[in-house]
Parts: sequence; C-alpha cells; structure tokens
Amino acid sequence: MSVNEKELLECLRLLVIESTRNDEEDDGGEDGGAIEVAMTDESRRDDLIHDVELKLTQFLEVQFRMDDQSEFNATGYSPEDKIVLPIHQPHAYPCPDTHKTLPSPPSQWPQRPVMIRPTPGTSTKIRGIRLASDRDYRHFAGFCAGCILPVNTGREAAGQSLVVDFESNHFVGTFLLRIKGVPPADKNATQAKKSKSYFDNRKRKFQGIVKGKFKTALPMSECVTGQTFGRQAGKLPAKWVVSTFIKFVSTLAPQLETTLEGDNPRFLVPLAATAQTVATKPHKAAVTQQEEDVQQALNDHLFNYSVYLGATEDIEHDHQEPPSSDETSILQELPKATTSSGGSITARMKARKKAFNSIAAKQAKEPCFSLDKEYTFEFYQHLLIFDEPEFTLDMGRPIGKVPLSPITDGQPIKFLSAHKDPVSGLLDSLWSFDVWHESMYPLAQKAADRAAAKR
Ligand SMILES: [Zn+2]
Repeated sequence: MSVNEKELLECLRLLVIESTRNDEEDDGGEDGGAIEVAMTDESRRDDLIHDVELKLTQFLEVQFRMDDQSEFNATGYSPEDKIVLPIHQPHAYPCPDTHKTLPSPPSQWPQRPVMIRPTPGTSTKIRGIRLASDRDYRHFAGFCAGCILPVNTGREAAGQSLVVDFESNHFVGTFLLRIKGVPPADKNATQAKKSKSYFDNRKRKFQGIVKGKFKTALPMSECVTGQTFGRQAGKLPAKWVVSTFIKFVSTLAPQLETTLEGDNPRFLVPLAATAQTVATKPHKAAVTQQEEDVQQALNDHLFNYSVYLGATEDIEHDHQEPPSSDETSILQELPKATTSSGGSITARMKARKKAFNSIAAKQAKEPCFSLDKEYTFEFYQHLLIFDEPEFTLDMGRPIGKVPLSPITDGQPIKFLSAHKDPVSGLLDSLWSFDVWHESMYPLAQKAADRAAAKR
C-alpha cells in the first residue's frame, strides 16, 4: 500500500471514530444496556464506513480518471446497496501506477520477461482479476488490477486460468491471455511441467480472447484492431524488410491502414474481419424471479456489474469459427445472412474476412454490433516470440528473427480494439492492454528521461 492510500485509510478511520463519538454524545446518557449500544454503534459504524468508502471510491475514481466521459460508474452507487468495494484491497484499479507511462521495472514483474497492463490514459478500466471458474475477485500475489495483469501459460488446470474483467466507454467484457513459455502466474499451482498445454500441437504462441457485450451499437465497419503507438518509431529495419512485412500483412489484411511516420504510428485493420474467431451468443436474460435474484446478488457482489456479469468458464474452452449458417455466426448479422453450410474452419474464417473487409471498404453504417449479444473475439499468432531475452518477430526465411524493441523504441505492443471515428480518425478503445517485454524497458526508460529533460 502506498503512503497516500495509508493516509487516506487513516483519515477514514478517524472520520468514522469521530462520527460515532458524536452520535453517542447526541444520544445522551440513556440507560440502554451497554451491549445494545455497542451493537447499534457497530452497525452504525458499518454503515458509516460503507458511506465513506463509497465517497472515497468515487473520489479516487475522479482523481485517477484520465478521460472524463467514462461510464464506469454510470449506474451510480447508492449507500443502501451493500456492495463489496475494492477499497480495502491495495491492488484494485486504479492504483497509483495505473497511468504512469513507464511501468515498474522488470525485476518486479512476476512473469518476467513479459508483463501486461491496462494501457495508461485509455478508458479500459479493470474491474478485477479472478479464476475463470469463479466469480470472486481476488488478489493474486505479484499482480495488481491497476498495473500488472496475469498471463496464462496454457498449462492451467480446467477453471484455473486467470481472467480479467474490464469495462470501457463502449464495451464490457472479460479478457484471457495465454503466452507460450512464460513463467506461471501462480508458482505454487499444481501445473507439472509435463501437464497438457493449450499450445500442444498448435503453431500459435500467443492467444488472446475477449468475451463481452457492447454498450453502444457501433457500426462494425468502424471497429478496428491493430497496433498504435504514442511516440515515434525507433530505428526501422532495412526498407525491404519493412515493405516485405507490410506486403505480407496486407495480404492477410487488405484493409490495413498504415502510418509509420510521425508521433502516432499505427497499423489498423477491421476488427470483425481480422480476429481469428468471432462468435456471438444471445445474451441470456433472467427468466424466473429466482434467476433474477441470483443475478442481482451477483451484480451486487461484482459491484454494479449490471451490464455484463463477465464471461463464464467457457472462455477457457477451445474456440472455433462457427459455420456461417449457425446462429452464433456473426455473418448472421449481415443483411443477407448466408446460408452456406460452412465448410472447413479455414473456409469459414475466409468467408467472414471477405464479407467484413468489404463492409469496411464501403464504410457501411450497417450492420452494427448488437446490444443483445455476447461476442467472442479470439486472436492468435505465431510470429511473435516472447520467451527469449530478445523480443522478436519471426519472419521465417530469408529474413529470420527481427528484434522488435528497437523498432518500437521500447514501446509496448498492444492487445487492442477501438472505435475509429470515421471523420477524425481518432480512436476510442473498446479494450487496450499493453504487452511489455523486458527488452523494451531500457529504451522506454531512455525515452522517459528524454521527455523529462525536455520539460
Ligand atoms: Zn498497481
């Protein structure tokens, strides 16, 4: 806990003691039994603590908030709600490090050489970290919902993957990340070296899944994924390597928007076309009163998680592009839903890519992401190598492994999706996580020093 938090909590304690003392004095010396008074005071104290917690949480929210249009607390807290607030947890979002450009040094990363965190200054807010099979947010040693999030190795037992619930301006969901070869998040967990891995017999080395709901019905053509940076690129490799790379990426993603020069280099591609798997599920509303009550209790427990409870355990399961004729296919949301039976997984992916690239090219206002559905987006790739001292992009022969940290000048890569304003081109992220590798850190530190010297 930082000094500031300690001070705040001490203030809170004094405030509560002070309030109860005044109450006692007001009540005067009635001859009510001492025990009864103590009990009343205790429950009153609980209520007071609760009230002050709410105020303090809201205060902290405002203090750390970078964007003022956030809807994080749009539903609003009311003192009557008995909600479990993260205020007593020192590692809740936001923490004092949440919006620092330079993260804590690699020596403090529990999964060195890799570390992920919510991108500073974006609307991605972390509700908590939990096991995929669990609804309780917990503190996992070494991690912090504000500044260090967990990565899974793929060897986790069923239900034991760590997932992150988040919310942004337009999206609320759950994020699960697996990277091959990183140290396990829980070093004491029973995951023998020989245990089965998600990555067995798979070429991919990185897999990220987001499951969740849109809060705004955004046009699909305006939602993108890719890489964005906050300052200039570093030393680019030879021109031919760059052009080979862009050509290579463009064949995979014809709607690629590339900006290499300037202070905000970015590569963007349409979200619905680019994700390796996209699936939808009707959002199940509670039908019986009992279900309603259970849902309400869960909502309360997850502090007003009213829009979306968070993904269930199935986020861990294998994801597969559904046939386009299936009701879970996003292609069903196109005006002319295709009725083909689907063919192979690859053929299904290709059909979706084609359809959504064409929608992006036309900048169509329809279709929009539905507010009644839960969407699953899966991304994976095999070119990035994380588990070595150098962070590289393996481009195969004849180029080989290209170190990426000098190219980004120590800037992290992103796991990101965003709404792109069709007029201004500005991005408002649906989710944005920074993926750090220790080889980026010295360069990032130098850049931070340069920026400080300029000030
Ligand atoms: Zn933190």
